[in-house]
Formats: sequence, structure tokens, C-alpha cells
Amino acid sequence: MPTFGGWPAGDHEHHAVVVGAGIGGLSAAATLAARGLKVLVVEAHDRPGGYCSSWLRKVRGRDGSVGRYVFDAGVQDFSGLGPRGPLRRLLDGLGVAQRMDWRRVRHRYVQDGLCLDVPDQPADLVTRLQALFPQEAPGIAAFFAEMGRVYADLYADVDETGGVPMPPATLEEMRSWTARRPDAWRWMHRPYAEMLDAHLRDPRLKDLLTTISEYVTDRPELLPVREMAPLFGYYLEGGWYPAGGSQRLAELLCAVVRERGGAVHLRTRAERILIEDGRAVGIATGDGTVHRAPLVLANSDVVGTLTRLVDPALLPRRYAQRVKGLKRGPTAVLVSLAVEGVPDLPARVFVGADGLHFGIGNPSAVDPSLAPEGHAAVTMLCLRPEPEAAEWFAAGKAANRQRKEAFADRLVTAAESVLPGLRERILYRQTASPTTFTRYALADNGAIYGAARGQWCPPNKTPLPGLMLVGAGCQSGPGVEAVVISGVSAANLATGIPAEAEAAE
Ligand SMILES: Cc1cc2nc3c(=O)[nH]c(=O)nc-3n(C[C@H](O)[C@H](O)[C@H](O)COP(=O)(O)OP(=O)(O)OC[C@H]3O[C@@H](n4cnc5c(N)ncnc54)[C@H](O)[C@@H]3O)c2cc1C
Repeated sequence: MPTFGGWPAGDHEHHAVVVGAGIGGLSAAATLAARGLKVLVVEAHDRPGGYCSSWLRKVRGRDGSVGRYVFDAGVQDFSGLGPRGPLRRLLDGLGVAQRMDWRRVRHRYVQDGLCLDVPDQPADLVTRLQALFPQEAPGIAAFFAEMGRVYADLYADVDETGGVPMPPATLEEMRSWTARRPDAWRWMHRPYAEMLDAHLRDPRLKDLLTTISEYVTDRPELLPVREMAPLFGYYLEGGWYPAGGSQRLAELLCAVVRERGGAVHLRTRAERILIEDGRAVGIATGDGTVHRAPLVLANSDVVGTLTRLVDPALLPRRYAQRVKGLKRGPTAVLVSLAVEGVPDLPARVFVGADGLHFGIGNPSAVDPSLAPEGHAAVTMLCLRPEPEAAEWFAAGKAANRQRKEAFADRLVTAAESVLPGLRERILYRQTASPTTFTRYALADNGAIYGAARGQWCPPNKTPLPGLMLVGAGCQSGPGVEAVVISGVSAANLATGIPAEAEAAE
């Protein structure tokens, strides 16, 4: 790790440069800035946040009036806000928690002829599931008890590890961890399906308890318990939506960077990460401007970073090959709708209908300010397998448009199973396809969750001194909570974990 000297002078010298203003990059940037470093963030898009950003559309209603609708580009359900949650710890540590207004996101599952509204308290969820599957009652109780213990174990040490779960740093710590955290140790590397099988039999129940894996993958069979357990945080500690839209979180983290003397340059694309004498020393942007810093954090697509922004010949061969071989996760079709009437649905509905599995986002249920009074901003998100992305990219522009509109039609029809009359209430429809995700978030292959699960993913540190990776393509995986972990871990590795008093200051 680099040593950081005094405050660098001028606009082109920094302690750290962050490529990409996704939440992974911004978590690292804000943490480093709060620890006294001069930080520059460069972001190619016109706004920060990556998949955690929002966009505004003015739509003319049937009466001729024009209304404003706020749509999210991605995230609508945030975890990690429990007392030991990484996002909660990040915002508390930065002293800005009071600047966010979080609203509880409630889940409904409508699939396989079942309808389940998830209650706020985990004990009530167990009771409700037992009522739906009485023959599985003891297994349901045992499964939730065991998952609860694994979950608690995974987050138990965050006070000692800089606010985020971190793997033990030494062999000694590893030995003591396995003794102190037996439930997590027993299960974390085993397949989630095995944990289900240990307690439950009914395939419909197992499917129901696997549905939330859609938040990280379309291939749940690849998930070990350590990657599924954090998703149970949605049941154990709740999912949340930031009033005003997901953009609010990104803007807040940018504000921290600026308030601490750093800068965020929007519409600025990093073209190269500069390597001199085998270590990262800065970046060059599209217009040829050079920014120098002893630490570069790349929040850009992991494979793209290590094959295009950095000359792969500078990396150890085996590492470069592993990176090149990384599979991307799923892509998606995302339909955004301005709708008359606020749907009588919770903020998140998981639907299985007409051969499709998809999520309906109805954040207007918790934040009416997203749309004119009596209207709603609704989304429908359907994951598509990674190999399908190639078909979308191969099709010409016109064929792509036709294909995505046909898919959106199919989704609207399927959504009518939970929202009768939806089609007639739509005032505006915008559909994002895999090519859209690549255009706006610069994610290769339209990947919405970074790297696929079930494979090696790179840790924060790269073999090049001074270059670190953060974001969904890294070891901690996709989702806001996970990328916060990757960003804060990178900052902790770069500066060490400050003593508590220092952090509070
Ligand atoms: C439709 C959808 C729904 C989702 N729903 C949820 C949810 O409900 N809950 C949840 O927790 N997660 C959800 N996710 C996943 C979550 O949004 C992501 O895992 C997370 O936000 C990714 O953060 P990141 O730090 O990897 O950066 P990203 O969001 O991938 O952002 C990377 C940024 O880097 C910029 N960039 C890339 N290359 C360069 C360059 N060379 N120069 C400058 N800038 C560059 C990009 O423009 C982009 O802004 C969803 C994702 C999508 C797409």
C-alpha cells in the first residue's frame, strides 16, 4: 500500500483517484476523504451512482397536464441497514446518516399458486410459512433458526473489522474465528440448496425461499450459504428505499467527498490507468488530462479494467488469465412505467407468471413524491441469462428495439395477473435492454450484477501496487450492501482501520 504525504497541491495531484462513481467506488472515496485524503472521483456518465441512480421523465397525462416521474436505473431495495449492517455503519461513520430518509420496502411473493406477504418480524414470517406449509412446520422453524445464527455470525465482528465483515487476516485469527463462529463456519462454503435440503422437503417452499437470490444471480444453484445468508437480511432486518430515489445515496456520498476537499468529475471517462515502474500512479482521461495519485481504485467493469485500462502484459500471467476468463453475471430487461393510480401492491413483488419470473418495483407505495398525486412510477425487472446477452448485442438497432418492446409487452401481460387493468393505466413506457446497461453503466455484456457467482472473483488488491478493485465484480459480489463492503474494505486496506475515537471525529 502507498504512503500518503501531505495535502497534494493543484488540480491534478491527489492521494487517491477513483475510476467510476458506482456505490463501491463512492463508498471507498467517501471513507478515504473522511480519513483526510484528497480524493478525485471520475465518472463517465452525467450523474454519479451507476446502477444506483435515478432519472426524471416529464409525462403528459390524459388531461393534458405534465407530471414528473422519478425512475431508478437499478436498485430499489437496500439491505445492510440493520444495527451491524455495512451501509448503516458507513453512513454512521461518515456522520451523515441523518441526511437519508429510509422507507421500509415490503415484499410479496406471488408464484406457484402461492401468495405470501412477508411480515416485518422474522418470527411472524416463520408462523406465516408454517400456516402455508403445515407439514413442514418444524423444519421451517429449524431452518430459520439456523440461518439466523449463520447471519449473526457473519456480521458479529464488524466492530473489530472496520464496519464491514472481513475474512480473518491471519491463520491464528482464522483458527479462533472458526471456534467462535461455529454455525457460519459449518455452513458458509456449502451450497445453499444443501442447507434447504437439511430441513425442508416441499419443492415449492424451497423455491419460495430461494426467490430472493434473483438479487444476485439467475443461477441460485451456484450460491453457497455465505452468499445467500446476507440476502436473508431482507427478512431479518428489512429492505429499505431512500425517499427521493436511489440517486440520493450516490449524491450524499459525493457530497462527503466534496465537503472533505475532494472532487467528483462527471462526464469524465478514464481511458488508461497509468503504471510506472510496476505500480499505479494515476489515470489519463478521454481528453488526455493526467491525474496523478499513489492509489487508484477502479470501480469500472473488472475485466475491462484489467484488459483495457491496464495493459494486461503488466500483470502476472496466471492472474491475467483468470481475469480474462471471468464470466459475467446475468443481464436483464427493465421496463419503467408511468402509471395512473398507485398500485395496491407492496413496494416489491416477486412474480412467477406466464413462464416468466420477474420483480415489480412499486416505490410509490412508500414514497408518493416519485410521481404526481395519484400516479406511480412502476418498474418490472426480468433477469436474462448471460449467454442471451450476445443475441441482443448482435441484433441491429431496429431489431433490438422490436425485440425489447415485444418483451415489455409480454411482461405487462404477465404483470396483469397481480395488477389487473395495468395496460390501460400506462401513460408512458421506457424499456432498457442489455445494450442499455452497457451504454449507461459501461458494464460489458450488459451485466447487471458484475461477475457471475460460483467462480473465483478478484479481491480488492491487485498484483500491481497502488491499484485496487472495488464494486460488483470483486470478491464480495453484487448488490449495494456487497459493494459497500468492497469499497470500505479497500479503504481499510489502504489506510488501516482508524481507532474508534478517530473515526467518530
Ligand atoms: C436493474 C437493477 C436492479 C437492481 N436492484 C438491486 C436492489 O434492489 N438491491 C441491491 O442491493 N442491488 C440491486 N442491483 C445491483 C446493484 O445496483 C449493483 O450491484 C451495484 O449498485 C453496483 O455497484 P458498483 O459499485 O459495482 O458500480 P456500478 O453501479 O456498476 O457503477 C460503475 C460506474 O463506473 C462508471 N465507469 C465505468 N468505467 C468507467 C471509466 N472508464 N471511467 C469513468 N467511469 C467509469 C460507470 O459509468 C458507472 O457509473 C440492481 C442492479 C440493476 C441493474
